[in-house]
Amino acid sequence: MLLTISTTHSPATDLGYLLHKHPDKFQSVDLSIGKAHIFYPESAPEKTTVALLLDIDPIDMVRGSRNMAGKGFALGQYVNDRPYVASSFMSVAIAKAFSTAMNGKCNARPELTSIEMPLETKIAVLPTPSGGERLIRKLFEPLGYTVTLQRHTLDDQFPAWGESKYYTVTLQNSVTLQALLSHLYVLIPALDNDKHYFVSQGEIDKLLEKGKGWLENHPEKEQITRRYLINVGSLTQEALARLNEVETGKNVNEEIPEAVKQKKQTLHQQRLQQVLEQLKKTKAKSVIDLGCGEGKLLRMLLKEKQFEKITGMDVSFGELVKAKNKLYWDEMAPKQKERIQLFQGALTYRDQRLEGYEAAALVEVIEHLDESRLQVLERVVFEFAQPKTVILTTPNAEYNVLYDTMEAGHMRHTDHRFEWTREEFETWATQLAERNNYKVTFLPVGPEDAEVGAPSQMGIFTL
Ligand code: SAH
Repeated sequence: MLLTISTTHSPATDLGYLLHKHPDKFQSVDLSIGKAHIFYPESAPEKTTVALLLDIDPIDMVRGSRNMAGKGFALGQYVNDRPYVASSFMSVAIAKAFSTAMNGKCNARPELTSIEMPLETKIAVLPTPSGGERLIRKLFEPLGYTVTLQRHTLDDQFPAWGESKYYTVTLQNSVTLQALLSHLYVLIPALDNDKHYFVSQGEIDKLLEKGKGWLENHPEKEQITRRYLINVGSLTQEALARLNEVETGKNVNEEIPEAVKQKKQTLHQQRLQQVLEQLKKTKAKSVIDLGCGEGKLLRMLLKEKQFEKITGMDVSFGELVKAKNKLYWDEMAPKQKERIQLFQGALTYRDQRLEGYEAAALVEVIEHLDESRLQVLERVVFEFAQPKTVILTTPNAEYNVLYDTMEAGHMRHTDHRFEWTREEFETWATQLAERNNYKVTFLPVGPEDAEVGAPSQMGIFTL
């Protein structure tokens, strides 16, 4: 499977800067099921072409827990078109190989990122679902592409067998490279009926992030969204609601019924909602959010009358400023203001200001500390501050295999110092509870997979 992008922009060699890939080097990136190779078949000031060659191992695809190939017929496990077509794997490869360009960055020549340049993309080959040629045109033409299609016969030697569903596609447009890569990232898998990825909440975020600035106005946005999310109705509904929100600037929460709203939540919202529910159960009147970040949980707590004293603490001054802005601090009614305070502090120092709260939340914070500092955090929170309840969440590392743009062994955020499996977290939490006379119970956070569990995990500590 080969994707090439050519430009005749002057000088065409600018493409190398934009892609962050040197024209003289042959480079490869690892994918979960093979490799992607990046090289330049031609590089001259008049015309430069970059190629992305996908080298997928069809046997690798069926190993392990995820059977990613061969739906529909028995030999499909071993005989399938995946190594030869542009599919959802192509999106993963684009995101990995050209991540800097996709994010619209170019440190060496930042001015290049906003230049619309003549770009010609060739995809060999694209499988099409029913609707074939018409569908390809409907997706690309509204974005300004001139689409040229060459349909392949099933077998040159046996013309009577007729046409296949495979096309070599050429797309010409004058756009920024970032826009082109985003279009390909979304539209290639939208055309593929046999997607390999696990469709979860995370896919909505990817779709909206990559679709930003064009998908909300695309006449086929519904079809693209539905096809990208493999027809999972609830996810499609949520994605469309969020897209429409972007388009009109409306807050969709106001008009969406409760049942749909539930599904509309992102993983982080779900996590905070679960934390809030646990805090409500404790009947605590005072609560401190340790590592409150920009204060999402604080805003939710403020809406609940139960909480009379709400405090947010974070080590980052910048986050606290954001929290203040998002709380509309300066316009807050005096009665509300009496209930809430923010301060800067570190969980690695004993601090009397942390004492006297009935409950504390530590939401996705511990993994930002070096593991060796957790002993200190433990003493600061559980020995000295000693709230009656601590609700603590952290990612479940086992779930990472389901994020297909993540490399094996990597973590979800560059800022994470560690990510634990369920067993690692539960062992740590149980021993911590014993040392400090707390009891602890555990809950999954987010949609649970039978094998690897939920994306995040919660420990509820009580004195
Ligand atoms: N709880 C928030 C933010 C999570 S991100 C939420 O769920 O949205 C982690 C936060 O922990 C960041 O805001 C970071 O500034 C803060 N943090 C990291 N190390 C810290 C430390 N040692 N003490 C206090 N806060 C810390």
